[in-house]
Amino acid sequence: MISDDEFIKDPEVPGPTKEEIRCIVMCKSNVLKGDVVVDIGCGTGGLTVEFARRAKEVYSVDKNPDALEVTQKNLKKQGLLIKTNLVEGDALEALDEIPDFNVLMVGGSSGELSSILKKGYKKLKSGGRIVVTSILLETRVEAVKALQELGLTPEVVEVSISRGRVMKRGTMMIAKNPVTIISATKPSKD
Ligand code: SAH
Repeated sequence: MISDDEFIKDPEVPGPTKEEIRCIVMCKSNVLKGDVVVDIGCGTGGLTVEFARRAKEVYSVDKNPDALEVTQKNLKKQGLLIKTNLVEGDALEALDEIPDFNVLMVGGSSGELSSILKKGYKKLKSGGRIVVTSILLETRVEAVKALQELGLTPEVVEVSISRGRVMKRGTMMIAKNPVTIISATKPSKD
């Protein structure tokens, strides 16, 4: 896992997703080396870079051109630009252009989560995984509902990370905001 400090940042762009959360997302997405991954709302490229290290190909989508610029810089820094397609635009429009994939990651949706999941599901290969990260209560509820409507049983995990600040007089734990990770697998065709 790449440490948070290694990422180039832009003050106007959220991310990168914290290292410990990236670990869990990689685990739940079960990304394999032959996989094609779509990262909706790539932000700083925290997850995109980790996917690109593991998968065959990544499509990184963001409606904010600054996000794509900083994601590109981070991919370049890690030598992973060649594996990644940067797509500027709204998730719903971008999904029309992208070929079928094995992993759908949604890290930003601005009120369109349900439609993104439903549209993305059509292009998700059987056995493929969906992962949603959410910091808002409303997003968690929407994700669970949309996945249930697709006939899936979502797994919901909430993670609260605290990092120790080591000082002379002891180590003080500093809490980060909790993140919920909602995931599901599309059934395989037998
Ligand atoms: N996972 C990222 C951080 C994601 S921040 C990282 O590790 O760096 C969420 C991003 O989602 C923002 O950059 C925002 O512009 C984008 N976003 C939100 N709604 C979107 C939508 N409907 N379509 C495309 N991008 C969207």
